[in-house]
Amino acid sequence: MRKFEDTYRHKGLRKQLIDTLRRKGISDERVLDAIGKIPRHFFMDSALDKIAYEDRAFPIGEGQTISQPYTVAYQTQLLEVKPFEKVLEIGTGSGYQACVLAEMGAWVYTIERQKKLFDQNKQFFYFSKYPNLKCFYGDGFEGLPTYAPFDRVIVTAAAPTIPQKLLDQMKTGGKMVIPVDEGSLQRMLRLTRNADGIAEEEKFELFSFVPMLGGKTNGM
Ligand code: SAH
Repeated sequence: MRKFEDTYRHKGLRKQLIDTLRRKGISDERVLDAIGKIPRHFFMDSALDKIAYEDRAFPIGEGQTISQPYTVAYQTQLLEVKPFEKVLEIGTGSGYQACVLAEMGAWVYTIERQKKLFDQNKQFFYFSKYPNLKCFYGDGFEGLPTYAPFDRVIVTAAAPTIPQKLLDQMKTGGKMVIPVDEGSLQRMLRLTRNADGIAEEEKFELFSFVPMLGGKTNGM
């Protein structure tokens, strides 16, 4: 069960979370603002209410997780998204990351391969706050050719390699932030597509994500 009440206590805990993220090196005020506005506890079971603002990942069902706030902030900061840019997200999960991007004014297209999570999100009232957020059920390895090209692509599951189809769906000058397998962890990469269609790669820290899997589940 989920509870949708945003109390002063929740707001206070969010302020503390922002301080923690600042201490850990997040400095983009637009990212911190968005995280400060979104009630993260709405995205998880009310049993987790007391710990919802700790800087850690939590289970959301179907063996999946809502990413750690630091990871969300880190990826969003690297993405350097501006208002009205088109962003493709792979791995909607709880929808929290998608809402952070929508709160920052981007046009967000997010794909989830787990039917149950997709259906749950369809009924989640909080999403109606963002007319600039659209959810899709499908395989993120395929991207969304109908809506391409995108200014930004963010992958929120551990990719075995960089999916070529996602690179193909990026504009010139577009950026992709993606955690790619390196041993048992993932290296955060930022790829910028240059005028020759080649992706220039920058390497960042190691993270731990749930795997990016091919195909989609039918929710049975
Ligand atoms: N962005 C999410 C993080 C979710 S965890 C959040 O803010 O909560 C990663 C999600 O990626 C999981 O829900 C998983 O089902 C999904 N996923 C994994 N492989 C995928 C694929 N190929 N296409 C779409 N979604 C995928």
